[in-house]
Amino acid sequence: MFQTGWMRELTRALLDFAYPRICLICGSALHESEKFEVCDVCHREVSGAKFPRCQICSGTVGPYLNTVNGCADCSKSSFAFQSVQSLGPYEEPLRGAILRTKTGSDSALTSALTDLLWSQEKERLSSLGVDLIVPVPHHWIDRIVSPRPPVELIAERLGGFLMVPVEHHILRKHRRTPKQRTMETVTQRRQNLRAAFTVPKQAILDGAHILLVDDVLTTGTTCQRVSSELKKAGASRVDVVVIARHVSQQSQKSDRVTLESSEEAITG
Ligand SMILES: [Zn+2]
Ligand SMILES: [Zn+2]
Repeated sequence: MFQTGWMRELTRALLDFAYPRICLICGSALHESEKFEVCDVCHREVSGAKFPRCQICSGTVGPYLNTVNGCADCSKSSFAFQSVQSLGPYEEPLRGAILRTKTGSDSALTSALTDLLWSQEKERLSSLGVDLIVPVPHHWIDRIVSPRPPVELIAERLGGFLMVPVEHHILRKHRRTPKQRTMETVTQRRQNLRAAFTVPKQAILDGAHILLVDDVLTTGTTCQRVSSELKKAGASRVDVVVIARHVSQQSQKSDRVTLESSEEAITG
């Protein structure tokens, strides 16, 4: 027993010497006590836990606000999803890290960011009691450029933590669309995604509670559209989890978020 422990420590020390662990965000050497693949400084920087956040939409809000039923923005709106959980705001250094993962070639960084998200939000995510995890799908042409979209890895890692199945084929993106961020108005964003996502007829959701996974939530139009399709196909409830929640400069000044509600009446 003693020898096993001694050998393990020696092996670890040799590995650390040969391949020193570095922070996947800033590149600085990691201390032995730092358990994630991200240093404590970067961890504090990317975490939204230091800000007061809306319990429904995960947007940054003013201090001492009760947001059990939403913040000033989202409490007046109707969404197809019930709530949003996130690691932190879409600002540096989290923004830069996510852009690096988008090529699909930095799976270690995607895993590290998911681990930070889980460490921070595991109680809330566990308490949701979801039946199924569904990543926001990519069009097949986009998958040629990025065969392994980070959102799929995030979904699988969360599925492992929650011990909930991940379903990659229950939702399809059958029309390629320009990036949502290139759309200037709410109408353009909604038109851009109209009829872009479908749930195949043979899919049986049968009242399932779904955790929808994306990497970034900006106005919420994509998650709104996808959640709406899942509910039309029989899902009882959809909650959203993302790595980063985008907060516009304008909304930061007024301590408000800019989540867009559906153009359709959503029930349930
Ligand atoms: Zn770092
Ligand atoms: Zn809110």
